[in-house]
Amino acid sequence: MALKTANEYIESLRRLNLNLYLFGEKVGNWVDNPIIRPSINAIAMTYKLAHEPESKDLAVTTSILTKEKVNRFSSLFKSPEDMVRKVKLQREMGQRTACCFQRCVGMDAINAVFSTTYEIDQKHGTDYHQRFRQWLRHVQENDLCIAGAMTDVKGHRGLAPSQQPDPDMFVHIVERKSDGIVIRGAKANITGVANSHEMLIMPTLRMREGDEDYSVSCAIATDAPGVTLIYGRQSCDTRKLEEGDIDVGNYNFGGHEALTILDNVFVPWERVFMCGEIDFSIMLVERFAGYHRQSYGGCKAGIGDVLIGAAASIADYNGVRKAPHIREKLGEMIHLTETIHGCGLSCAYEGWKTKAGNYQCDILLANVCKHNVTRFPYELTRLAEDIAGGILVTTPSEKDFRHPVLGKYIDKYLRGVPEVTTEARYRMITLIHAMSFGLTAPSYHTESMHGAGSPQAQKVMIERESDMALKQSLARSIAGIDKREDPLDAASKGGWRKPVEWNSRTWPRSD
Ligand code: SF4
Ligand code: FE
Repeated sequence: MALKTANEYIESLRRLNLNLYLFGEKVGNWVDNPIIRPSINAIAMTYKLAHEPESKDLAVTTSILTKEKVNRFSSLFKSPEDMVRKVKLQREMGQRTACCFQRCVGMDAINAVFSTTYEIDQKHGTDYHQRFRQWLRHVQENDLCIAGAMTDVKGHRGLAPSQQPDPDMFVHIVERKSDGIVIRGAKANITGVANSHEMLIMPTLRMREGDEDYSVSCAIATDAPGVTLIYGRQSCDTRKLEEGDIDVGNYNFGGHEALTILDNVFVPWERVFMCGEIDFSIMLVERFAGYHRQSYGGCKAGIGDVLIGAAASIADYNGVRKAPHIREKLGEMIHLTETIHGCGLSCAYEGWKTKAGNYQCDILLANVCKHNVTRFPYELTRLAEDIAGGILVTTPSEKDFRHPVLGKYIDKYLRGVPEVTTEARYRMITLIHAMSFGLTAPSYHTESMHGAGSPQAQKVMIERESDMALKQSLARSIAGIDKREDPLDAASKGGWRKPVEWNSRTWPRSD
């Protein structure tokens, strides 16, 4: 069964035996839980698109490993074009769900672990890559949903993993046995983990001497003994428990994160893909971060499209769509969204082939993409809120709207243009509310700020990946400074550029 349908995916979740908690209680039937179900629906859309004639091209690809058709969300990137399709698929998914559809973390993790394990084996003579290929075949053949689990809880942020007063602040190996390892710790904010079949564990930062037990990557089932998932709260989440659907804003879809506790979880060797190689943890982190920061150029653009549509619609319903300032604001929203998307595409086009054979997106441009995403969705929601008006946070509840006496007042006084129903206006307002205040992405802007790494993480990478020495050399050359006059010559990858040899009196020269 290489391509599950949406229903087959949902039914497959029922066979998991999750140890999942929400509001202090273990959740039995979590698949039908009203708070959790919208996030399952969002992932189910990734399965649905693989069967729709108009989206198949984006959602399905051929596996390098099995040579069979597989869902792109569990595939290896075979070319820059493949990474372009990934970003376009994510935009399509953002448009269809207006939220985080969660499955990209696993896809990006798969690609990073694939190329890193190959290079670990080359240097250390290990066999992680073959193990990983075997595991990935199993993922692809069963069309599993994989949660990527990187972010540790981190404890004292100023201390290395092995220096923490509590050794469990980073996931680590507590025992090496003949048949596998035992790991302990917790991963924070793990996207989609309660809706996934398995999770792919990765280290969260550069490891140094002494951190060997923390340099660990492996695959575990989400219902493996020792795993506990504690569902993350979202702003306004209990609205989903109320009667009616209007107040939720985006009733069908939503994202989710969970605190993921790993309490002495046993992992057999065939599922261990890094075990103590401190020299490769940063490669894995940066490659994964590159992929996932590119991904935001897809999902956040798609969600932006919905928000722009909602802002334009509420302007229609208020009768002000043609006002110059509204058009100007909508134009700005489009500009921001297309800039995000353009960055996501550009790092795919500038991608390169790894030694293992899959493709890596350009890491500098991917970080630029995500860095824009830490800012632009704030401006997008600000503009949408500006256009929608204060009613965004003052609408009476749906219960009042349905009330036999109050309802007629609300219907009369909350109407905009006469040709559009009050209920339509209500729904558009609560959609913008949900997208601005937290229910759908889980939050369009906070998720944009911290998901795939907080802004400073991108700043560090942008500085490291950029050839500052080349830029200085260009400036010195244009300024006419000879190398002999400048003892501060920085070692640029491009070498020293000669000073420009002509001046304004002789240029352009006839030759
Ligand atoms: Fe995918 Fe975006 Fe969610 Fe990351 S934040 S998992 S890229 S939808
Ligand atoms: Fe995210």
